Amino acid sequence: MPRSVSHVDQSGRAPEVTVISIVPAGRRKVPPRHGSALGPREPVVVVAGNVHGDECTGVGVCLRLAEELEHTLTAGTVHLYPSLNPEGLERRTRRHPDEDVDLNRLFPGELHGSPAERLVYAVWYDISARRPDLVIDVHADAPGAIPYVLVDRAVALRGQERARLEAECHRLANASGLTVLQEYPDERYSRYRLDRSLTGAVLNRMQVPALTIEAGPRLVMDGPATHTVVHAVRGVLASLNMLAGAPTPHSTQLPGAWRRDSGPRAGAAGVLIAMVAPGDALKRGEVLAEVRSLGGAVLERVRAEGDGFVVSFVERAHVVSGVPVCTFGFAVG
Ligand SMILES: [Zn+2]
Repeated sequence: MPRSVSHVDQSGRAPEVTVISIVPAGRRKVPPRHGSALGPREPVVVVAGNVHGDECTGVGVCLRLAEELEHTLTAGTVHLYPSLNPEGLERRTRRHPDEDVDLNRLFPGELHGSPAERLVYAVWYDISARRPDLVIDVHADAPGAIPYVLVDRAVALRGQERARLEAECHRLANASGLTVLQEYPDERYSRYRLDRSLTGAVLNRMQVPALTIEAGPRLVMDGPATHTVVHAVRGVLASLNMLAGAPTPHSTQLPGAWRRDSGPRAGAAGVLIAMVAPGDALKRGEVLAEVRSLGGAVLERVRAEGDGFVVSFVERAHVVSGVPVCTFGFAVG
């Protein structure tokens, strides 16, 4: 049975976090570790979804994993958080519906803050108390995007500590079998407050490995995307010797070192026509999309600004000047 954990704050409002905890031989109530000697078996892995309320892949992934891991987990403990933003799920909104803020830029939250900050605090408190060895946060990107894993930047760490933690993240990310993308360079990573995303805060505050997996379109429980992420999580758990078997690459995996960034911006207003598929290998200068008038005239050919591939095209059929037409995976080095 799912277990609900409440943290009543002084306003009397109690954000709720639903957790499904799995240990070998089934689903058990596993209390969070508050320093007691009766901690769950290690390693401890957290899988979370739906912090963006319109991104439902993680909900399906957690529910599928709950059924599957009851029978297949051979070691360790897995805590599943199907929805970190249940009101957003109900109302189909990315952000916290009452305050119109992005919960995934508020970690670790505030005990006495706004409702959104208190919800984030409840999530952070609950996850922290389980002392995870790895946190995987599942998101959805856009229709047609390739599935991928994002690795955060450990900007709060220095030298060897930072290198060791980021290398461990890359090792685990590769075990997912998906294409691995590094986050934005440090300065923008911090400016965009990505160190206050769930995975950014786990990496920088807990100093524990964390991965973001992006798969499927928003707003629907996409079957193939759910399957892809379940396969990816299985690979990561196998690499931690928590499951039998070995990680295997996904059919879309692009081996290599990549960094995500905004793609080229449209210079003209018009209809956006993709000229390549997400994941196609591109050289700098190659055309990846056209902007056309409704009469069919080609107003602009949008070209790759470096070697790499389109991760996902923007979710719109009409663009105006200045709009990035895609997210791009740039080759690193
Ligand atoms: Zn998201």
